[in-house]
Formats: sequence, structure tokens, C-alpha cells
Amino acid sequence: MRFEVLTLFPDMLNSVFSGSILGRASVAGLIEVNCTNIRDYTKDKHRRVDDTPYGGGYGMIMACQPVVDCIRAVRKRLPEGGTRVIYMSPQGGLFNQEKAHELTQYDNLILLCGHYEGIDERIIELEVDEEISVGNYVLTGGELPAAIIVDAVSRLVEGVLPSSECYENESIQSGLLEYPQYTRPRVFEGKEVPEVLVNGHHAKQEEWKLTQMKERTLKKRPDLLK
Ligand code: SAM
Repeated sequence: MRFEVLTLFPDMLNSVFSGSILGRASVAGLIEVNCTNIRDYTKDKHRRVDDTPYGGGYGMIMACQPVVDCIRAVRKRLPEGGTRVIYMSPQGGLFNQEKAHELTQYDNLILLCGHYEGIDERIIELEVDEEISVGNYVLTGGELPAAIIVDAVSRLVEGVLPSSECYENESIQSGLLEYPQYTRPRVFEGKEVPEVLVNGHHAKQEEWKLTQMKERTLKKRPDLLK
């Protein structure tokens, strides 16, 4: 699966995509993540990419020409079909695990990051298939939201995690929160790992895990049980 992130600040993202599990997945050819600098597409002689808003108002708006040209140039590099253009926006539908699964059906995701006061509306009308928000708050730019989407979608791509079991039993995905987990040492500052996990037999451990999942979901996220 291929992610094309269009941004004015590619340096913010390159290290996120080259480290840890995402970095290994890229090296293994399971995913490809490219960051393109929108500023490289401006035709303005001062390399400007934004301008003041018509009708007045605070801040600067990213202009049509560089953004539309950038999207179209990146699209041209991709095979026909299987591409979805997503604008990171606080006005979009809320991103969640279900949406992450839905996005795995595309071969290519073009993730457009706004900045400043946002982008000219005509860019959305002409080029964007969908707007996605990562939460009910406003960030300075779409770079962190794009990184969240690349991360959450990539780990669902076959081969990125050792097995689909790695995410199937996780919080949210399973419909419940995950049970508490422990590793060595068995006692830390007087706090012991639950006996059943050390000496219990497999069926008992599974029963304990399910009970814990239900109990902590009820306590921390009762909304999930609805
Ligand atoms: N003026 C815009 C509005 O009120 O809808 C907000 C612009 S915001 C300061 C700048 C950029 O950050 C947006 O263009 C968008 O790309 C990104 N952004 C901010 N909050 C976001 C969120 N919750 N989810 C996704 N992207 C967000």
C-alpha cells in the first residue's frame, strides 16, 4: 500500500515514517510512504503558497494553484484507479479503527495536509474525495493527522505486524479494552503479577483475560459496551 503525503513541512514527517515498525515495513516493501513538498509546485516567483482570505478574516489560506498542481502531479505518478485523495481537516468525519480498515481497500492514499487557516475551498471541490478529522480539536497543520492515518492503516496491511492476531485482540478493535499486561520481573516495588498469569493453566488465563477486558471496559470506556 502506498501513502503520498502532501505537505509544506516534509521534515516534520520523514523521521516518523522511517523509524520502528513503519520503517521496517517500508524496507520490506509492504508499504511505501512518500512526502512531497507542496511549495515545489508553486509558480509564484517568491515561492509563496498562500494568500490572504477574500472577505477578510484572520490568517492565510493555502492557494489553489500549488496545491492542485501538486495533487495532480502526484496522481500522475500513480497507476490508474485505486487512489483516494483525503484532506486532513477538523471539518471531516472522525477517524477511527473502522475507517482505518476501510482505507486498506485502496492501493494509494493521497493525504493532503493543510496549514495556517486551511486551504481554498475550490481545492476540495476539484480534487478531494473525502475529509477526515482525527478529533474534535484544531491543530496547526494536517501533518500529525496524516501521520496518525499512515500509522493506523499500515499496521493493518498484511505482513506489517507478525499476525492479524496482533491487532484483533487489541483495545477498540475487539470491541473491548485489552486486559492488563505484565512482563518480568514478577514482583516490582512490592507489586506482583497476578498469580493466574504465572501458574494458571491456559483456559484459566483466557477466562481471566476476558473478565478483565469486560471489567476495565465497563470502568474506563462504558460507551464501547453500547
Ligand atoms: N480554519 C480551519 C477551520 O476552522 O476549519 C482550521 C485550519 S487548521 C488551523 C490548519 C490545518 O490543520 C487544516 O487545514 C487541517 O489540514 C489541519 N487540522 C487541524 N485540525 C485537524 C483535525 N482535528 N483533524 C485533521 N486535520 C486537522
